[in-house]
Parts: sequence; C-alpha cells; structure tokens
Amino acid sequence: MRILQLSAEIFPLLKTGGLADIAGALPAALGAAGCDVRVLLPGFPAILAGLHDAMPIGRFTMPWGESVQVLAGRLSAVPDAARQPIHAYVLHAPGLFERPGNPYEDAQRRPYADNHRRFAALGWAAAHLAHGLDANWTPQLVHGHDWHAALAMACLKHWPGGVKRVPGVYTVHNLAYQGLFEARLFGDLGLPTAAFQVDGLEFHGQISFMKAGLFYADKITTVSPTYAREIQTSEQGFGLDGLLRARHNDLSGILNAVDAAVWNPALDVHIAHHFDAGHLAGKARCKAALQQESGLEIGKDAPLFTVVSRLTDQKGLHLVLAGIDDLLRGGAQLLVLGSGERELEQAFADAAQRHEGRLAVRIGYDELFAHRIFSGSDVTLVPSRFEPCGLTQIYGLLYGSLPLVRAVGGLADTVVDADLATLADQTATGIVFASFTEADYRHALRRALALYRQPRAWARVRQTGMRQDFSWTQAARRYTAVYQALLDP
Ligand code: ADP
Repeated sequence: MRILQLSAEIFPLLKTGGLADIAGALPAALGAAGCDVRVLLPGFPAILAGLHDAMPIGRFTMPWGESVQVLAGRLSAVPDAARQPIHAYVLHAPGLFERPGNPYEDAQRRPYADNHRRFAALGWAAAHLAHGLDANWTPQLVHGHDWHAALAMACLKHWPGGVKRVPGVYTVHNLAYQGLFEARLFGDLGLPTAAFQVDGLEFHGQISFMKAGLFYADKITTVSPTYAREIQTSEQGFGLDGLLRARHNDLSGILNAVDAAVWNPALDVHIAHHFDAGHLAGKARCKAALQQESGLEIGKDAPLFTVVSRLTDQKGLHLVLAGIDDLLRGGAQLLVLGSGERELEQAFADAAQRHEGRLAVRIGYDELFAHRIFSGSDVTLVPSRFEPCGLTQIYGLLYGSLPLVRAVGGLADTVVDADLATLADQTATGIVFASFTEADYRHALRRALALYRQPRAWARVRQTGMRQDFSWTQAARRYTAVYQALLDP
C-alpha cells in the first residue's frame, strides 16, 4: 500500500509535542508492516535543514496567488543505523513557512494570522500528490494528522471536476486544537462554497479545519480507545461530539506506541547509565546524576517526582502546584521541565525559589534533558484534565518511573492502579486517581509515598511497568487494517 502521511511536525526534526514522536515513528512501523510510506511536511526551516537530495517535482498556486513548490527528498531518520531514511515531500514556500521559532505562533505566542493559508497549502499539496503531481509515485491513500493536515480531507473530496479517487484517513491527536478561522477567510482555502455549511467545515459560523478532517475523512482514528469514546461525549467533544457520534462506525482508537530506537533505557544514547527491568543499578546512578544536575539534594531515600510537560491547562498542573507542600512534607523531591503558559511557568519558578534543594524547575524545551529525567525519576506525574493518549506516562513506565495519572483518555488505557488486588496479582504499574480534584490528587500522592516506603512492593510495580510492551507492531497492524478496509472494501 502506498501511503502519504501528512503532519506539521516530525521527530527528530521538529517537535512541540507527542504528535511529532508519532509522525516520526509511524513511517518505519508501517514500513515494517509492508506499507510504502512517504511523508508530506511544511517547509519549516528545521524541516528543510533535514531534507537531503531535494529535487523540485512540481508546483501549484493558491487562491491568493502564491506559488507553492513541492520538493522531494529524504529525511535524516532517528539515530538507528538499521533504519531507512524517510522519503519526504516538503512544501517550499518561504513566504508561508520560513519563520524562526515555534511553527504555529509568533514570538509573542500569538497564532500566525495566516495559519489558515499555511495549512490550506499543506492540504492542497496532499491532494495534488494524490492526483499525480509526482509522476513516479502516487499515494493510494492519504493519512493526515491533526488539524494542520485536516484540510487535505476536504481537498481530496472537492478535487475539481473529479470523482474522488484517493481515500483519506484522519487521526485526531488532540481535539482541543481545532484550527478555527473567521468565515471571511474562506476564499483563501480554494474550496467550493458548498464546503462552507454544516455538512462541511462550517462550525458555528467559523471555518474549522478539525471539522473538515472529521467530516470529510473516510476513516477517523484517534490515539487511544478511551479517548475515542470520550470525544463522543459533550464533556470532551468540544462541540464536535455530535458529528463524532454520527461517524462512530468510522472512528477507532488506536493506542500510540513508542519508538524503541529512541526510548529504551537499555540502549538510550542520551543517558549515562543503562538499565533494564532485571538490572536497576544504572537507574540509581541516573537518579543521583539527575539530582546533582538539577541542584537537588542527592540521596536515594527521597522519592523523586518529575513532570515533563507542555505547561497548559490540559495537563492538570495546578494540581501539581497545589500538591507541592504535601509532596515535600512526605519527604519527596519534585523536578519540573516544561514550557508554555506564562502564569504556570512563573508559579513553578517561584515555587522552586521557595524550596531550593527539594524542588527544581527548568523552564524550556529540552529533549535530551527529558531522557535524563525519565531515567532518574521515581514517579512521573501526569494528572491531566484530559489526555488523548499521553506519551510521558509510557516513557515513565519503560524507564522505571511509576506514572501517577488521572484515569482519563490514554492514561486510563496505559496505567494499572496499584490497589490490593493488582498488587497481589502483580498487574499494578502505577497510581491512578479518578476525579480531577485536589483531594483526589493529594490522596494519590499519599498512596505513592506510602508505596515507596515498601521497597519490595515498589520494585515489583516498577518491574511490571518496565516489562509492558508498547512497541509499534500492534499499532501498525491496526493502522494497516484501517487502510485495508478502504482500499479493499
Ligand atoms: P502532548 O502531545 O499533549 O504534549 P504527550 O505526552 O503525548 O503530550 O507528548 C509530549 C512529548 O513532548 C513527549 O515526548 C515529552 O517528552 C515531550 N515534551 C513535553 N514537554 C517537553 C519539554 N519541556 N522538554 C522536552 N520534552 C518535552
């Protein structure tokens, strides 16, 4: 099967969150499952810098007159000698994409005013490739990820003069980010007016890229089974739950997997001491090194709780702030790596000043530090308000850092709460709490601290977590089954 995968980010070249991890791992995983995958990406500076042997293969013009060139080349893959480079198409449109910093926002963290144009161009590029822009390779199916790629589903459906030939699969990584734009910008999208209606991409008088994906895609997937159910409810549907309920036969939840070439404590090139479920001496050394590097008091008695996260309301960080005193009183330490909303950044920075030696905070984005954190951490905190899948709790599991999570979305699908029954049958992998309240979160902290004081039970839970299988084999099989259903109905 020839699959064109479409996303705004791809690890290791450009990453703001879990989307990039998945977009970077999927081509190799699908390749191993027998697919011929190419990726299509916007020509952000970081992506162009990682594109080798680039050749122009064609161009098209957007409604406002801008000409967009499509380059074909190869992307440097993750550091794994066995892995093939990824065949990529990249949009070369300097006026749209060649801006420094965050791919979606300006230096003041405001979304770029022309984001609708930038990602409409990405959608049309997919449709052009599906209709022969590259004479040497035409996809049989287009798979788009998140709202940036969603317009492709509408472009395929509304390809001028044509019966739609190439089906589209659309994956929701986070329904909260929708790509909403004022109706007056519709003319820039290059779609017929028929698309701007309730049975189309119109959403309460606005343009919704997310809705374009959900409405026009032939199949919809999201990144965990629980999230697939949750987004069909009014609490988590962001107003799109009706459409998702109507399309429930085309919607499936495929749990994200982990790229073992990047996240594996036995081989990780970014950590100083390696370990696995049967050999944990290296983890203790990683913890001491992490405490030293972060300015925390060194010692194994204090359980080290960590957060690696975008600092946004979604991630439940006000619970983490509210629980600091309980944690420290319980003898624990806290280390936070994150960036995002200014108030949260400030609140964590202030807390670090108050509790020097026991609470450390690094504001920013640091991929390699994240590896060192998971390797040295005892508990990975992910108390999210909602969480489509979540990757950090899985990295925590694999690196022997017990996840403490809320029972929501993919967190509920990946962590087994340590209670009397799961401790007895050795299926427990972390601490799970139910309601998004300070009381429930605090109780979960107490349970984690109590478990840490029972070293044998702790070691068993940790070992069970480290032995979980989050490899791509199963997820790739599920994606190919979705493709197959469209290509051989
Ligand atoms: P989301 O996609 O909502 O941000 P996920 O848990 O799915 O959440 O994925 C987050 C990814 O981004 C993980 O790979 C995590 O390690 C990484 N990450 C988040 N914040 C940071 C940061 N400040 N520095 C380094 N890596 C980070």
